[in-house]
Amino acid sequence: MKKYSVGIDLGGTKILTALVNKETGEVLATVKKKTKKDKGPKNIVRKMIESIEELFDETNIPQDEISSIGIGAAGQIDRENGIIIGAPNLDCYDLNIKEHISSRFSIPVYLGNDVEIAAMGEMAFGAAKGCDDFVCVFVGTGVGSAIVKNGSIITGATGTAGEIGHIIVDLNGRPCACGAHGCLEAYASRSAIEKRIEGALKKGRHSVILDYLESGKSITSGMIRKSIEREDELVTACVDEASEYLSGGIASIINFINPKLVVLGGGLIDAVDYFYKNTVRKARAKSLPVPASKIEFKKAALGDFSGVIGAAFLECRKL
Ligand SMILES: [Zn+2]
Repeated sequence: MKKYSVGIDLGGTKILTALVNKETGEVLATVKKKTKKDKGPKNIVRKMIESIEELFDETNIPQDEISSIGIGAAGQIDRENGIIIGAPNLDCYDLNIKEHISSRFSIPVYLGNDVEIAAMGEMAFGAAKGCDDFVCVFVGTGVGSAIVKNGSIITGATGTAGEIGHIIVDLNGRPCACGAHGCLEAYASRSAIEKRIEGALKKGRHSVILDYLESGKSITSGMIRKSIEREDELVTACVDEASEYLSGGIASIINFINPKLVVLGGGLIDAVDYFYKNTVRKARAKSLPVPASKIEFKKAALGDFSGVIGAAFLECRKL
């Protein structure tokens, strides 16, 4: 078996490309480029090809020792044909990424979505190592999740299973980007917290987060952490509210799927331990007694690398 693969995490802000040793999980080299979606899909494809070439130059591993190029993209995808059907964060629609990359390298190309590859990475070498029955929940700009059963990702009839961000937590609730009302993502994502804080600041509430905010720039997970460390009332209340909703969503998943383990990751979980701990405590309290007594929670362990490591394993996925 060829032991190396290229993993690409194609996100709305950056394209992270890595050469991964699949036996050890070691990331041998990485190339990071800004996505700049406003320059169009062709530019994204060009940057991906350049990144792969740079990796090969840097590591000197011959192409015939590389078994696959795995790509995880943030959006709706057609796994079988390697097409990005619709990715608003990338401004890519009906983009046959497999064809574009295959035309340049004679290595098999596989496409997955961003949460799926992160879950595969955590399963191979991270928090879910040794567990074949778990759910990953990632909280950042949005809220995404992946369901793993018997070691395989559950993709569903149309390939869209695991959209925890769009389970409805308030029937008459806030509008969501998907068109529905009251979706979890509109309450528990970093963007949702950001909107709450900004709304309160506009109304004249005071917060120490103003010490970190530059005009025109958005609130980051790091700013949220620092404000909580300084016991800021407003930021703490907004994070508590998000945690209340997120834990409700996770408890629903625990009751519905009954997994062995829930792995929590993403920018907000990574940066704000207070948010992670509160969410875990509340999710257990809100779950039914039997699953609550057994369920395990872990923080994602591979950070930024979970996606590229998981993408390197897309070739092993059964469609
Ligand atoms: Zn929604």
